[in-house]
Amino acid sequence: MDKSEKVLEIIKRLKKKYPNVRTALNFNTPFDLLVATILSAQTTDANVNKVTEKLFKKYKKVEDYAKVSLEELQNDIKSINYYKNKGKYIQDLANHLLERFNGEVPKTIDELVSLPGVGRKTANIVLWNAFGINEGIAVDTHVKRIAKLLGLTENTDPNKIEEDLMKITPNEFWGDITNLLIMLGREICKAKSPNHKICPLNDICPSSNL
Ligand code: SF4
Repeated sequence: MDKSEKVLEIIKRLKKKYPNVRTALNFNTPFDLLVATILSAQTTDANVNKVTEKLFKKYKKVEDYAKVSLEELQNDIKSINYYKNKGKYIQDLANHLLERFNGEVPKTIDELVSLPGVGRKTANIVLWNAFGINEGIAVDTHVKRIAKLLGLTENTDPNKIEEDLMKITPNEFWGDITNLLIMLGREICKAKSPNHKICPLNDICPSSNL
């Protein structure tokens, strides 16, 4: 089985196991998802959802983030790590969106990564999960680890891993593959204790010890 065939088999099996896969971050609007994704750096989605449950009731529009004092915004997210920096990024982001994009979240990677605090991973997550647009593949810590374990890449740099995955994955699955590998990473292929025995990929994974 070559890598392209393997990736299709992986997607087929993981879609069977996780048929309704989507990002675990809760959001109502594309800007909510951008905020949630920025907050999620180096913390769990569950922590972020706890904070955004209240945050999204108080801040309904991009303008709300721009006009509040930075201290108040930071205070509203203070249970999240790096809340000072994250608060600053979010407020800068709101100001840039209002100044350059009429307050709308843009729909291309190039425009998204031109915003403060937004890298390719965040841009890809927002494009797929908020707009259904597949422009790239979001490589988070789970995708990075599992793509290597599955023998889909030898690279360690997320941008190079993204390129490797884009070469072997049909475009229609670029959004799904991230969410599927994240689910596998959370439930089965955990960093410290991958459970090869119950993994639906164990017969095609070079890292299985079964
Ligand atoms: S077989 Fe093991 S290493 Fe491979 S993807 Fe499954 S849990 Fe991870």
